[in-house]
This record gives sequence, structure tokens and C-alpha cells, in this order.
Amino acid sequence: MKSIKTKLKVNNQQKTILAKHAGVARHAYNWGLATCITEYESNKKRLSAITLHKRLVREVKSENPWYYEVSKCAPQQALRDLERAFKNFLTIPKRGFPVFKKKGKKDSFYLEGSIKILQGNYIKLPRIGIVKTYEILPSLPVKNVTISKRANNWYISFKYDLGPEPTPTLKQRDIIGVDLGINTLATCSDGSKFANIKAYRQAKKQLVRHQRAVSKKVIGSKNRRKAVKKLAKLHKKVADIRADALHKLTSWLAKNHSTIVIEDLNVSGMLKNHKLASAIADCGFYEFKRQLTYKCEWYGSELVIVDRYYPSSQICSNCGHQQKMPLHLRTYECSECGFETDRDFNAAVNLKNYVNQ
Ligand SMILES: [Zn+2]
Repeated sequence: MKSIKTKLKVNNQQKTILAKHAGVARHAYNWGLATCITEYESNKKRLSAITLHKRLVREVKSENPWYYEVSKCAPQQALRDLERAFKNFLTIPKRGFPVFKKKGKKDSFYLEGSIKILQGNYIKLPRIGIVKTYEILPSLPVKNVTISKRANNWYISFKYDLGPEPTPTLKQRDIIGVDLGINTLATCSDGSKFANIKAYRQAKKQLVRHQRAVSKKVIGSKNRRKAVKKLAKLHKKVADIRADALHKLTSWLAKNHSTIVIEDLNVSGMLKNHKLASAIADCGFYEFKRQLTYKCEWYGSELVIVDRYYPSSQICSNCGHQQKMPLHLRTYECSECGFETDRDFNAAVNLKNYVNQ
């Protein structure tokens, strides 16, 4: 099991609902603590989290309707935490008596249930909805999460299973260079090409058509809502096809090569070029890098990420001469030695050669 803690990118509405959850968790904890103290003083009895929760539902929830605005996991877990704090106090030497929680100090709460990591950096949480993270998340099943607030920022943390233990494979080839492209998904220095699959291109076309359809519908209308729903489904379809293609590519690379050389893409720098930016964002470079990183770890291969200033597309892979290569040129024609080859293939070979230098 690995654990991850990462910052959430929340809007004001989300901040409010997160604060409500933390508030209920704190309220339940403090109520539970006060109840436990009274109970212990009068009956010398310890209350379990289950008993406390039953009493909370009866005595507290009905009087505090804001409890119904949040997931019931938040108060439930707060009472389990309280039970543990009491147990620790009684069984661990020098452990202090549980203390009341103060607002704004270590605000946190727990959630479980239908949690889902969506494409890249979105996570779907019960009662809260879809929240964005700054970091790309591993697309693996998550059972529960803890959300906490530190210095005005919200963080999410959870554990996840990395799957089977890494198993190094026998490698066919020593080094391979990979050039990620727009028209082709990837071009490799051994000559293999991974095309953007047809299903993906078709789904993309559909997506563009449907986006136009949505924008023609009246805002707030029933038809628009329907169209938006269909659009979201299409988005998911496109993303799934993409992820599948990337998984095939990254598995093949990591299983069969000792060293894989890729280029770091300067995505923010490319944002200036609009067309290219959308293509790059679309081609899922971060997802590619993320998959390749953990698969190299699994299969015992090395991933080399070449500095983004290395002119992989400008160098002649035959003689080493360097010349300008505007984006529209699809063929590399060396003005020095006359060597002629596909632009992406030339770049892939240069990436491979980078390690041999
Ligand atoms: Zn040349």
C-alpha cells in the first residue's frame, strides 16, 4: 500500500461544503468527548463508537439540522477516532487524555463510499462532488479518504494498492527513444509507430460535432441539459480510448526495453501556440509519463527524461548537423549530408542517441 497526500483546487462553493463536513466532524467529536466524560464520572463506563453514534443520531442530529447537509461518514469516523483516543489514553503509557478540538486547528474529516478518481486530476467524492487536484492522481481504486485543512488550504489523503509486486522482465532491446506526436501517438527509434487509433479519431470528430450542438441550445433549457449529458459521456469515451492506447504503449515500452528515453514537454510554454497546446494536452503527456514511470519501476527498466531544451527535432540523426525545423515540415532533410527521413523518427533516434553520447 502506498499513500498519497495532495492539495485540492477548490472553489468557494466547495470550500463551504468542506468546512461544513469538518465542522460536523469536530462537533461530533467534542459532543462525544463531553458525553464520555459525563458517563465515566457517573457510571465509570466507557462508551463505544457505535453506542455514541446511536445516541448522536437520537439526541444531536435532530437538534442540529446541518448534520443532514454532510455525509454521515464524517461524524461516524470522528466518534471512531474518539474511541481510539480513549483506548490509547488507557493503554499507552504517558498518552494524554483526549482533548476538545478547536475550530481552525487541524480541521479534518473522513469519507468513504463511492469515491472515484477520474481522468488525471479529478476525484469524485460522495456528497461533495467532483474536486480538482493540482497533482495527477493514480487511476486506481480508492476506498476512503481523509480531507484536512492546513493554513487555508485543503488536502486530500488516501491509501492505494500498487497491485502486484514488480517483476523485472527479460529485455529485447537495450535503448529506445520515443517521440510523442500529434498525428501519431508515438514514433520510436526502432521504427515502430503507434498510430492514434481510428476509434479515437472518430470519437474525437463526434465530440467536436456535439460540442457545437450544445452551444446552439438555449442555456438552462432541458434540451441543453440533455446535450451536455451526452457530451460528458462522449468525453469519457474519448478519454477511455486514449488511456487504453497509452497503457498498451507504455506496457510495451517498459516490458521490452532496458532504457527508455523520452523528452520532457514544456506544456506551459506551448500554451502560446494554441493549436499545438490543445493537441499536447489532448495527447496526455502527463498521463504517458506517469504510466511509464511506474511501469518502469515494475518491470525493472530505466526511464530517461531528456531536458526540454535538447533540440531532438533539429539535429540530423545521421551526421549530427543542426538546423531549424519549423512545425509544418514533416520530413527532415539534412542540408549538410543530404540524409532524409521522417521528422518524428529522426527525433526518436536523437533521443536514443542522447544516452550514448
Ligand atoms: Zn546530416
